[in-house]
Amino acid sequence: MKKLAILTSGGDAPGMNPAIRAVARTAIFYNVEVVGVRYGFKGLIEKDFFEMKRSSVADIIQRGGTALFSARCEEFLSREGREKAYQNMREEGIDSLVVIGGDGSLHGVQKINQESEISAVGIPATIDNDLSCTDYTIGVDTAMNTILDAINKIRDTATSHERTFVIECMGRDSGYLALMTGLAGGAEFILVPEIDFTPQEVTNRIVQGFNKGKLHSLILIAEGVKAPFVDLSGYNGSPGLAMGDLIREKTGMETRVTILGHLQRGGSPTATDRIIASRMGAKAVDMLIEGHRDIMINYKDNSIGSCKIADAIVEAQQIDMDIYNLASILSM
Ligand code: ATP
Repeated sequence: MKKLAILTSGGDAPGMNPAIRAVARTAIFYNVEVVGVRYGFKGLIEKDFFEMKRSSVADIIQRGGTALFSARCEEFLSREGREKAYQNMREEGIDSLVVIGGDGSLHGVQKINQESEISAVGIPATIDNDLSCTDYTIGVDTAMNTILDAINKIRDTATSHERTFVIECMGRDSGYLALMTGLAGGAEFILVPEIDFTPQEVTNRIVQGFNKGKLHSLILIAEGVKAPFVDLSGYNGSPGLAMGDLIREKTGMETRVTILGHLQRGGSPTATDRIIASRMGAKAVDMLIEGHRDIMINYKDNSIGSCKIADAIVEAQQIDMDIYNLASILSM
């Protein structure tokens, strides 16, 4: 490997910066030239490149977001667009690429390996933790702690006023964040896209809780919950707002809804995110130096390793039913 490019793609996630830093500094340590690519695959097509030195990644380890900026790029979905990217990399003498991003970005990595001689490796970074072959994606710990902080604060006001609160968190297709923070935050009910539920199950649980003397009820709901019994278009697509109305209507209880939104994507990465990002970044460079390509760096059973990209993007992770049932038992 002579010249390595780094980019971040798709939705940003806290911990992308420590990953960028680790990739750049490990490569420089091995005397590999490093090129930063701004705005993800768009930057490859538009040749938005700059030379990276060790100082280029100074003072970013503690910052949320991504110093390389991120983008979603329609043009990269076409062969023509991707050929422009390959040509630009060839002109620059780039033979290897590390892509830090989620599921869509890894599809892009797979295409690069299939269609060009460039060796591309992926590092999983998305707060959704929705990839196969890895127990962990960079950003999820910071996002969980942000949500938990919000739950704790909402709990204070919920208790003071004996209210029911519906908290909507991120997770378009995956209920991982809702499940884990629901367990950690002691939510009375956790609603995720992977598990069907009826409105009665939710309202019964709330009423039973208050009858037992509970001072509040917290319902955690992932943004991707479909709630087929209600027309979400009247609620701006928000299942949280819909559930809030439904609970109010069926129980007569005062119910408030908080949609956490994009604050879940920001913030200084936690120690766990920084440590895993640093280890994954270094591992990506090691694997490229050893001649590997078309792989994603993963975290399984407490160790950093790798898997084929094809295996990582094959299907979304299933929800852990043991944890779901545990959360239900503990919040009774
Ligand atoms: P997040 O999980 O946070 O949404 P992501 O990486 O999945 O992150 P996407 O918007 O799905 O985000 O993908 C990022 C970019 O990857 C797309 O804008 C596109 O440029 C590229 N990409 C996605 N799918 C493909 C594909 N099948 N082939 C080539 N490139 C792709």
